[in-house]
Amino acid sequence: MRYTSMHDEPPRDSPRVPQFVDEARDGLDWAGRGTSHVEFHTDEALPLSQGRFLGHGMNGGVFETVVCGQTVAWKRRYCRRQIGAQDLREMDILRKLDSRHIIKLVGTYTHGPFLGLLLWPVAVCDLGTFLEDVDNLLQNPGPGDAGIGYQAMITQRLRSLGIDTPSSASTRLKQSIGCTSSAIAYLHQRSIRHKDIKPANILLSPAGLWVADFGTSTDFTGISQSITQDGERGTPKYFAPEVAEYEPNGRSADIFSLGCVFLEMIGLCNGYSLEYLKSLRPNKDQSFHANLDSILHWFNFSGTNVNSPADQQLMALVREMLVRTAQERPTAEHIETRLRLIDTLHGPRPAAPLWGDCCAPVPRSSGQIQPRRISLVTIKIGNTHQLKNVGHGWLFFVRAPGVEDIIADVHFFLHPSFEHPYTVQHLPPFEMIGGGWGFFTISTVVALKRGYSWVSPYATLGLGDQSLLTLYWTLNFERELSYSHVEVGVAVS
Ligand SMILES: [Zn+2]
Repeated sequence: MRYTSMHDEPPRDSPRVPQFVDEARDGLDWAGRGTSHVEFHTDEALPLSQGRFLGHGMNGGVFETVVCGQTVAWKRRYCRRQIGAQDLREMDILRKLDSRHIIKLVGTYTHGPFLGLLLWPVAVCDLGTFLEDVDNLLQNPGPGDAGIGYQAMITQRLRSLGIDTPSSASTRLKQSIGCTSSAIAYLHQRSIRHKDIKPANILLSPAGLWVADFGTSTDFTGISQSITQDGERGTPKYFAPEVAEYEPNGRSADIFSLGCVFLEMIGLCNGYSLEYLKSLRPNKDQSFHANLDSILHWFNFSGTNVNSPADQQLMALVREMLVRTAQERPTAEHIETRLRLIDTLHGPRPAAPLWGDCCAPVPRSSGQIQPRRISLVTIKIGNTHQLKNVGHGWLFFVRAPGVEDIIADVHFFLHPSFEHPYTVQHLPPFEMIGGGWGFFTISTVVALKRGYSWVSPYATLGLGDQSLLTLYWTLNFERELSYSHVEVGVAVS
């Protein structure tokens, strides 16, 4: 789906349309036939009136229409063959998906050779358009009112999303990274592959983000079969190498495509224009998969040289998502967990968090007063050092004598020039050995087991309400042993 149209009226996709969404959850009776999937006779007139043009879908235009008093997007698809039971089962699965970041399939129908899809909500634009608009904004950061024509249209579209400065654009891009990763993790947990992750399939409104066109390179596996035979297979630019080569592929192909999208998002936040990123892909169709060597070379020499420790770790994660060997790519679940950890590297009040407020962790116990026992814990963090003929040898450690049994895991984030800058340990001793000439700051996230929480301004909540404490240590090579003590409270709930 490609949404490029303009909204001059206020956005109509307020996230609060509870009744409509609740009804849609149980199958919206949008045509008054008692079901959300309707089979119309060829000579029957559809009870839908075609509204504003929203954009080009793969097999034709996408238009607005109104069902049950709510504006939805209406897609029609020509189907070469009869819609079968398998297709209906798949539609049912997709209709039952219920995630704040997945576009809602509220109704479907067949009408002669056409399959119709009704999708909610209608967005302001897609991420592809947004990336181009932000790229434009970064190159023309002055007030947009002076512009006419194309420039004025971009300014207006950005304003409909609540964006008017490069920094608000960057904040929105960062938040979209986490929300998109949650949507893909949600699909993968249900064994649904997206198969065509690209910016044009991520829809945006002022407060919302929705992943669309999941399930196949079009919409449904069975139906897409015939489309695949026509050679239409989604968007080669974001294809994983194995997809481009027509090899067997799985969920990890989605991860590659997601990595490409993230690279464009984080790249823009760090001043790399889309044109610059394109210059890293000189070969063939300028796809990511056909230019992996050049991209990975860029990562090794300058790609992780970005603004903040969090952005450095984001780039390192993207590099892992883009590895050629599918089995070595992280899973969607790992990416979501890792992003939650990277989000803590900003400090207690992140300047640009990686999730929107929609996905901010809420403590399970919020609003309840629970008896909590708080005790003070001393954490020792530091490094040993030995000069060797190949550079400095060091051992970095985090010790918490007497309370290490309540630590679930300790996450280490090293300098992004390391091939694997992230590691995690689940059992004490929490330490790691390294060597080389350079010294750098190691970011460490100490996660507690369920039932325990840190009482500290540096504590944050991770995935599944896990209490996280972020500590930083810059390697010291002046002495054989350097460390400091951190006193922090632990509450037992
Ligand atoms: Zn969200």
